[in-house]
Amino acid sequence: MEPSEVKIGFIGAGNMAFGITKGILLSGGVLPRNVTVSAPSSNNLGRFQELGAAVTHSNTEAVAASRLIFLAVKPHLVPAILREVAPHVTREHVVVSVAAGVTIATLEELLPPESVVLRLMPNLPCMVQEGALLFSRGSRAGPGEGALLKTLLGPCGLVEEGPESWIDAHTGLSGSGVAFVYLFAEALADGGVKMGMPSALAQRIAAQTVLGAGRLLRDSGRHPAQLRSDVCTPGGTTIYGLHALELGGLRAAVMGAVEAATERARELG
Ligand code: NAD
Repeated sequence: MEPSEVKIGFIGAGNMAFGITKGILLSGGVLPRNVTVSAPSSNNLGRFQELGAAVTHSNTEAVAASRLIFLAVKPHLVPAILREVAPHVTREHVVVSVAAGVTIATLEELLPPESVVLRLMPNLPCMVQEGALLFSRGSRAGPGEGALLKTLLGPCGLVEEGPESWIDAHTGLSGSGVAFVYLFAEALADGGVKMGMPSALAQRIAAQTVLGAGRLLRDSGRHPAQLRSDVCTPGGTTIYGLHALELGGLRAAVMGAVEAATERARELG
């Protein structure tokens, strides 16, 4: 099935649903009239209407109007909502859950036996179409459903498929990793302020430095160690700064942060 023909529903109208909707609509591959979003409050729905999507307060209406359904509500609401919509889910539907910590086994248990389920873990930069998304297919989702999801979500950022056991590591590396990068950016800017630069300027330059370094890393396809080594003139400024970071244990601290966040995701799952 062509992405332009797929009818897409969102249960939940929060930030994640909006980021994904914006990505799939801005690409032009999906028609706004083929998207239906449901949420109990009208407050959350206005911005989806501005994108041209249909909106409703009825989750079952969103399911009936769609073939691909994104479940984008807080994890604790998932069981009640799936019980509500389950009688309307048929073998024609594909259910994609973004709820953190809700396993494929739980989703399949709450839905009718023939349901096709995928679990997707996005991260916040989906809001600006630069997300890092990892999905896993449930027991009845085939490669076709995986390929469709990959094509549809392509405009939201990097989309990869992997076993469900990687989802918690992805949460630690990329979901929480966004906050680790913000901490680094804040520290870069603070360093600039310490050395006499005005704070607002230091923040703008730190943000651009993180963005530029990230784009170069992604677009060059080179290993970060190669790019880092290119910046190091023998006896120059960068190698002096890198030595200070190594003495501060940055590398071990970041690896430890990903490990701690992954372990926490496992505990919460
Ligand atoms: P959010 O609080 O912004 O949005 C939740 C939405 O659910 C709201 O629009 C709310 O009106 C709606 N809702 C509440 N009760 C409902 C009901 N009974 N029926 C239908 N809709 C209902 O949350 P979010 O940040 O968009 O997160 C949504 C899901 O995405 C969560 O499960 C979260 O774990 C997951 N997630 C979020 C992020 C992130 O960075 N925000 C990253 C990965 C995964």
